[in-house]
Amino acid sequence: MLDFQEIARYDRQIRLFGVEGQEKLKKTSVLVVGAGGLGTVVTVYLAYAGIGKLILLDEGLVELSNLNRQILYVEADIGKPKAHVACKKLQEINSKLVLNCYAQKFDRELGEKLVRDVDIVVDALDNWETRMILNEICVKYRKPLVHAGVNGWYGQITTIIPGKTPCLYCIRPYRSSEKQRSREVISIIGVTPGVLGILEATEVLKLALGIGETLQGRILFIDLLSLEFKTFEIKRNPACPICGNVH
Ligand SMILES: [Zn+2]
Repeated sequence: MLDFQEIARYDRQIRLFGVEGQEKLKKTSVLVVGAGGLGTVVTVYLAYAGIGKLILLDEGLVELSNLNRQILYVEADIGKPKAHVACKKLQEINSKLVLNCYAQKFDRELGEKLVRDVDIVVDALDNWETRMILNEICVKYRKPLVHAGVNGWYGQITTIIPGKTPCLYCIRPYRSSEKQRSREVISIIGVTPGVLGILEATEVLKLALGIGETLQGRILFIDLLSLEFKTFEIKRNPACPICGNVH
């Protein structure tokens, strides 16, 4: 149940989807893996929207070179764990938000523990090696996974519903020989994770509310330099080693 303060706070969006919609958001728990360019944007918008619970995970420390895009951090945060700084700022945005932050590396064991108990998972990662582990765990526990990836002025986003849509492996079979490449420093400008992070938050809100059309079975490619948005249908691979047997 919402209290009077919450009804006043969310008045403008309750006009869009009703008190019941706002209550659905309050009951929703979301795991965001990564508190970088994407993760800081996703969590800020979910905190403002009144999502009930956020679990955030990032092993990194704030660095000077993060400050062109990772909008929760300021100069005084350099050297501090991102997860702790992000948690403090998100709590300042919304004191009613239930927050669990982990300044730890994402691995299979912790991933299973966290994914199991949440409603929706957000991929705010910067490497395919970890993404593939997250994808596998989400398929195993049948949890919706909102994926986005960014590079330069480009971004891509899709929403995975295990058993229904392609999983990440169906779209992009990952080879372990890519490990080295995935650790390379990418070029990136803040507006790219800004746009993609907001779109990820939008997908989460629609999934939680059960309204609109999400990017299930579709992938959206965005080129911010030419400002072209292109959506493609994507199909499941029946022989996918991760989701081939999931129905
Ligand atoms: Zn698959």
